Order: sequence, then C-alpha cells, then structure tokens
Amino acid sequence: MAKVQFDGVRKVYDNGQVAVHGASFEIADGELMVLVGPSGCGKSTLLRMVAGLEEISAGTLRIGERVVNDVAPKDRDIAMVFQNYALYPHMTVADNLAFGLKLRGHDKAEVQRRVQGAAEALGLTSMLDKLPRAMSGGQRQRVALGRALVREPSVFLLDEPLSNLDAKLRHSVRTEIAQLHRKLGTTMIYVTHDQVEAMTLGQRIVVLNEGQIQQIDAPMALYERPANLFVAGFLGSPAMNVLRGGLQRGAAGLALLLPEGEEVPLDGAAIDPAWLGGELVVGVRPEHLQPGQGAASFKARIEGIEPVGNEIFVNLRFGTQALVMRVPPQILPAVGDDISVEVLPAALHFFDAARGERIEAQRQAA
Ligand code: ADP
Repeated sequence: MAKVQFDGVRKVYDNGQVAVHGASFEIADGELMVLVGPSGCGKSTLLRMVAGLEEISAGTLRIGERVVNDVAPKDRDIAMVFQNYALYPHMTVADNLAFGLKLRGHDKAEVQRRVQGAAEALGLTSMLDKLPRAMSGGQRQRVALGRALVREPSVFLLDEPLSNLDAKLRHSVRTEIAQLHRKLGTTMIYVTHDQVEAMTLGQRIVVLNEGQIQQIDAPMALYERPANLFVAGFLGSPAMNVLRGGLQRGAAGLALLLPEGEEVPLDGAAIDPAWLGGELVVGVRPEHLQPGQGAASFKARIEGIEPVGNEIFVNLRFGTQALVMRVPPQILPAVGDDISVEVLPAALHFFDAARGERIEAQRQAA
C-alpha cells in the first residue's frame, strides 16, 4: 500500500494540448479517490501518468516515498483495470487470473495462493473452471478486476471500469468494488465521468475541468459547499438552479433582481449586505424549492411535470428563468397553471458573478 503524491504535475501533449495544468494533491495510503469531470477534462491523462503510460511533462509524482517520473510501468507496483477488459477467451477463469503471474515467474504455490485469494474476494471460486464466454458481463468484469488483484499492487488504477455494463450491473459491480476496497484497504484511483458513480464510490473526489482541479473533498462536502459554479452544476441531478442578478433591498427584505425585472425574495438568506448593489449568482438545489406561501415565495408557471415514482421533478418558469423543483409525490396544479414557490433561504448558495467562485460562509454572515 502507498500514498500517491502529485506535485505540480503537468501534461502537455506533442501537439501543444495542455491536458493537465500543474496538479498538486495527495491521495492517502489506503484511500479510494475518484477523479471525475466531463469528457476531455484530463482525468485519464492524470491516471495514465500514474500508470506510467504517459510521460510527465513537468512536476513530480511520488508513489509511496519514491519519485516515479522515470520509473517504467512494470516497476511501479500498480495494477490497472480498463473499460475494455480483454480476457483470453480460450482460457478458464483460473488461467486468466494466473497468466500474468506465471509470466512474471512466480512459483506454482504462490500463483495458486493468489488466484484463490482473488477468487474468494470477488466471489469467483465456483467459476474458476469456466470459460469467459459462459459468463455474464458483470462476472467477466470481476475476472478483469481479479487479474489486477492477483498482482497485489500498492495502488489500483481503474479507468471507467463500468462503462460497458448496463445500468443494473453497473450498480452491483460498483457495490462490489466498494466492498473490495474496504476488505483490501489498498489505495485506489478511480476515473469516471459519471457523477453518481463518483459520489457513491469515492471517499474523496477530485473534480476536474479543462485540465484544472476545481475542488477536492468528500462527496457530501462537495455537494453542500461547491467551491465554484462548475462544481455546483456538475454534481447533482437535476442540476442546481442558477439565477444571475443584482442584490437589492426589496419591499420584503433582500431580493435578487433578475435582468428581466423579476424579484426573487432572499429574505433570511445569510448574505453579507456588503454585496448590496453587486452582481451575484444564486444557486438553489431543486430540493430546496418547495410549494409554499411563506415570506420568501414567488409565483412561477408550471411548464412540465416529470414523475419518477418516489419523487416529482417540476419544470417551472419564472419570467425568462427556467427552474426545476423536486418534490415528494403529491397533487400539484396542472401544467400551465401558476404555483407559489418558496425558497429555503438557509440552503442557498452564493457565487460572485465575475469569477463564479463561492462566497464563503463567513462573508455571508450578515
Ligand atoms: P478525459 O479522460 O477526461 O476524457 P483525457 O485525459 O483523455 O480526458 O484528455 C484530456 C485532453 O487531452 C483532451 O483535450 C484530449 O483531447 C487531449 N488528449 C488526450 N490524449 C491525447 C494525445 N495522445 N495527443 C494529444 N491530445 C490528447
């Protein structure tokens, strides 16, 4: 087991594309860290630099205490699982698991011990004599994990390992990976573009955009205190509502004046009055809008209702502003009708309009 340390790690491809701008952070020994962000944000490049599959353009990368910038992949004590796992079709599960170890010259007893250990950890013991084609997609992906496991590496690297599985299987293999991590306690770096996978699997998450680290924190901390508008919009489904406007003192206390003249009441929100007259972005999660007539309420038109069973997403229009409200299953006015909507002032997020950065709580305290 080992920690992984990035110090100003940068990647510039030969064509001049800067895929990772100086990344500095540490993954603790035994931690499951998820790298997440939209396609092209640089997460695979970051992982491939740890694997030794991409050269590091600048900065220092350490696995444990050792600088590995110039260490060959096979000498890094890592194992990688890819999206496109290729099992040997003519070999049994046992032989697929053992193959790499035999190549590396481990003796028979040691190979046997590791194959048994991996098979037990992954629930493959009864399938050791099967051929891959006789197995389901999820089982085959477990064998692919097993091939990494038998290496007993100090760091596991997983690059979108579940993308080829259907939704139900993704969920069950995800749970297995989390259990495996708890059992083994090995450092894992897991790359995904899927925010749900990131939130449910990561002990901590690195959110990336355009080669830049946006924020690193525990899943719920990212959800509750996003550092900027990118993180606020990336995590959460339906996405956080964002309203851009000027902070004014309205008839009923503080209000956000939208460009088309509508006022969103912010009475009771913890925003520093020093922002009065300034341009702000207010973020409100769909679950923090509710039908209600309280002080901080406004009228919006219902444009669509999406019942998903245990809850309903209500698409609202307030002037030119589209909003999504998330409510428990309940009777609602019809599409086209107006509804009085309340915001929960304490749950609002504030960002400065110019840079999109979170206005910190201490500055919010009036
Ligand atoms: P992600 O895994 O987040 O989708 P990547 O790390 O694969 O993103 O890519 C980051 C950026 O680097 C993208 O803009 C991508 O087009 C570019 N890139 C990736 N590989 C290469 C390469 N071999 N040569 C040039 N540019 C590349």
